[in-house]
Amino acid sequence: MVEHKLRTATSRALYNEAREVLVDGVASALHKSPDEEYPIYIERGEGSKLFDVDGNEYIDYLAAYGPMILGYNPPAVNRAVIDQINKGTQFAAPYKQLNEVSKLLQNAIPCADMVSYQMSGTEANMLAFRLARSYTGKRKIVKFEGHYHGWSDEELVSFSSDSLKQMGPRNRPWKTVGSRGQLEDSMKNIIVIPWNDLRIVEDVVKRNGHDIAAVITEPVMCNCEPVMPQKGYLEGLRAITRKEGILLIFDEIITGFRLALGGAQEYFGVVPDLSTFGKALAAGYPLAVVAGKREIMESGVHPVGTFNANPICIEACKATLGELSKPDFYKKLERITEQIVDGVRKLGESNGITLYCDHIGSIWQIEFGISSPLIDYRDSFRVDRAMYQRFRQELLARGVRVHPTRGRQYVTSAHTAKDIDRTLEVINDAFVELRQ
Ligand code: PMP
Repeated sequence: MVEHKLRTATSRALYNEAREVLVDGVASALHKSPDEEYPIYIERGEGSKLFDVDGNEYIDYLAAYGPMILGYNPPAVNRAVIDQINKGTQFAAPYKQLNEVSKLLQNAIPCADMVSYQMSGTEANMLAFRLARSYTGKRKIVKFEGHYHGWSDEELVSFSSDSLKQMGPRNRPWKTVGSRGQLEDSMKNIIVIPWNDLRIVEDVVKRNGHDIAAVITEPVMCNCEPVMPQKGYLEGLRAITRKEGILLIFDEIITGFRLALGGAQEYFGVVPDLSTFGKALAAGYPLAVVAGKREIMESGVHPVGTFNANPICIEACKATLGELSKPDFYKKLERITEQIVDGVRKLGESNGITLYCDHIGSIWQIEFGISSPLIDYRDSFRVDRAMYQRFRQELLARGVRVHPTRGRQYVTSAHTAKDIDRTLEVINDAFVELRQ
C-alpha cells in the first residue's frame, strides 16, 4: 500500500467516513487506485488543473478518464448548460436542439447515417450488440483480449488477467468474466481472440462465420496502454467482415472526438458499420451515441431510456462540438502532446531509464521497462508496472496527476506550454528519485 507523500489528511478522513456508506468507499472502482490506502478528494477543477480538499494543486493528465478534452470547467460548455438548466432539465419529449446536434454528429462521423443516444459507453455498446444481432439474425460477437467495452455481463469478458498463464493458448484463448456475480453463461455468445493478428480473425471467421453477427474493436487499443493497430490491421478487419456479411463495430468511446472530429474512422480512413461514442462527446456530461448505417439502425431495435438525450447533455455536446470544430483545434492539441512526448523521451535518455513514450492525437503513453511498442494485451505483461506505480507517486507528490494504473494519459485543450514545461521538470525530478 502506497502512502501519499503530500498532506492529504482531509482526504483520508473523508474516505474513512465514505467506507461506512459506500461499497469500497467509492462510487466507481475507477475512483480509487488499488495501490493506495485512500483516494484524493477533489474539490474543483480549472483548465488543466485540479485542486484537492487539502489545498494541493495538480496538473492533470487523467482528464477524468477521457471526457475532459476541453479541460475542467470549460466556459463554453458551462454557459450552454446553465442556459438549459434555466429552461428545464428533462422533458421526456423531443425538442428542437436534438435535431441540430444529431445533424452535427451525422456530418462529423463517417459511418453515421443515423444516431441513437444513451447515457454511458456501456449502454451504447449493449445497444450496438443488439442492433448487430437484429440486423444479421446471427448471435455471436467477436471481441479482443484486453479491450474494454463496458461492465455488462456480455461486455466484461477477458478484459484483464493477472497472468499470461490464466489466458490459455493464444489462438484459442480461455474466456474469463471480470466480476463476481457475472453469469458464466453470458460469455456463451462471445468469442475472444488476441488483437492485431489477422490470421486469427480469418481462422475464427472460418470456424464460426455463419453465426457471427459482429466484430467489435477499439480502433486503437486504448484500454491496454494504448496499443496502435498494426499497419493494414483495421483495413484487414474491414475486408474480412465485409466479405463474410459480419458487421464491424468500432468502439470509439475513447478515440471518438479525440483523434479527429470524426474519430479513428476519420483518422485511419476505415469506416465501420456501427460505432459507439461517449466520454469526449460532451466534455464531462454523461452522453453516449451509437452511430451507424441506416439499414442497421432501422433494423427493429427501439432504444429506451428515461434519460436518453437529456437536454443538459445535448446542450453540453453542442457546445463541445462547437469548440472542437474551431480551426486547428486538433493541430494545437497534437502540438502540445508532441511537446510532452519529446520531453519525456529526452529525459528517459538523459537519466538512463528504459521507457517507451509515444502518442496518437492527444492520447499519449509512458511505459517503463520496454523500448518498443506493444502488439496486444499479452504483450503488455512486458511493462514494468511496479516502476510505473513509483513514478506515479513521485509525480503526485510534486503536483502532477497521471493515470492510476496504466501508462495512458491525455492532454486537453486547456494544457499550456508552461504546464508541459513544469510537468517535464517534475518528471525529471521523479526520474532522479527513481534512479536511486
Ligand atoms: N468502451 C471503451 C473503449 C471505454 O474506454 C469505456 C470506459 N472506459 C467504455 C466503453 C464504457 O464506457 P462507460 O464507462 O461510459 O460505461
